[in-house]
Amino acid sequence: MTTPCFCPNPECMNHTSPGTHWRVRIGTYATIAHGNVQRYRCRSCGKTVSDQTESIHYFAKRRLPLRAVIACLNSGSSLREIGRRYGYSCAAIRNGVLRVGRQAMAAQVLLLNGMNQRNQIVFDGLRSFVTSQDYPCDITTVVDRESETILTMTHAVRGRGGTMRAEQKERLERKLALWKAPPGTTKRAISLVVDELWNYLRPSPDGPAVIDTDEDPLYPWILRSSWVWKHLQAWGQIVHRTTPGSAPRSFLNPLFPANYVDRLLRHRVKEHTRETIAFGRHSTVQMHRAWIFAWDHNMCRDYRVKRPELGLHGEQGVVTGSFLRGIRRQFHERRLRITGKMVPRSIVAVWRNEIATPPVRWRTGQTGTMVTIPRFARVDLAAGLCMPVLSAPAPAG
Ligand SMILES: [Zn+2]
Repeated sequence: MTTPCFCPNPECMNHTSPGTHWRVRIGTYATIAHGNVQRYRCRSCGKTVSDQTESIHYFAKRRLPLRAVIACLNSGSSLREIGRRYGYSCAAIRNGVLRVGRQAMAAQVLLLNGMNQRNQIVFDGLRSFVTSQDYPCDITTVVDRESETILTMTHAVRGRGGTMRAEQKERLERKLALWKAPPGTTKRAISLVVDELWNYLRPSPDGPAVIDTDEDPLYPWILRSSWVWKHLQAWGQIVHRTTPGSAPRSFLNPLFPANYVDRLLRHRVKEHTRETIAFGRHSTVQMHRAWIFAWDHNMCRDYRVKRPELGLHGEQGVVTGSFLRGIRRQFHERRLRITGKMVPRSIVAVWRNEIATPPVRWRTGQTGTMVTIPRFARVDLAAGLCMPVLSAPAPAG
């Protein structure tokens, strides 16, 4: 059971700095899912809380085996496959994924707020699709060069290219008449990533900050439109290097950290595997799964399999091992608290279910794939602070 650590009333003094005896026990109540649950009352404001209030299973009608769900997701199982194995419906597992996905995003917020400044990053887009191959999407990923830690991810549905047969073209036209990604989705997604860079990317004492990308013309265009970029460049404190996408994807390729993460995402998460029959049906859930992958990659996986003494990816100069252990200790039990932490806008958009998603059953209308964000999850997010927009045009004068 997760004994409450603070009063949920934001007006109460026990919300931010609870003393040792801030609550009193006031009996228990019985539940089918969680057994007998202890209740408490805040000594200061009288607000009642329980052992469930801060639990990751808060408001759940059944306790899902969330550890197993994470392990299965990251070893290439689809939601239906996990449901069959453990005796739950696909919808129940999907709700579990949303629960763990929010926890993974909260862990990322804590990582970004607690990490040292970075000076070499790589970004690249992973091409996948959502609902059908007619709706390809790019998951733009920012990876730290030194530690291969994932820093930011955004999602953008884009138009389908390539040669198509006549019937494919006709179907695509009918689909696009019903739904197409809002114009400028890709540009907005990359702008979001670029805007967040300035919160952690800094030149080092030894040289300028370095950004590595492929030759997509959108990257230089968006970078150069940021006044932070202009300021750093005027002082010779930032460099943008491009590498052709056709260059061998070896360790010597400057884009190696991003290629490495892309390859692992394709390897571990079912919907990104080539020729998959278990594809993502909703952009928001797709990104929740991507964040669960990022949590596992950044904070649970060894940096080098053959050298476990080096520690995890996140321990390579990003944060300390004890910082990661603190997060890992409560990850499967207690919802991570992001009160007062800077939350990237890319995470806010996924958490609030604000990213564009095409319909699945486009001929008959969308049913059964709606994502709802419970009120407690919105309250959890609202406790964080939205990262300021830094790339807005510099004020005149
Ligand atoms: Zn209180």
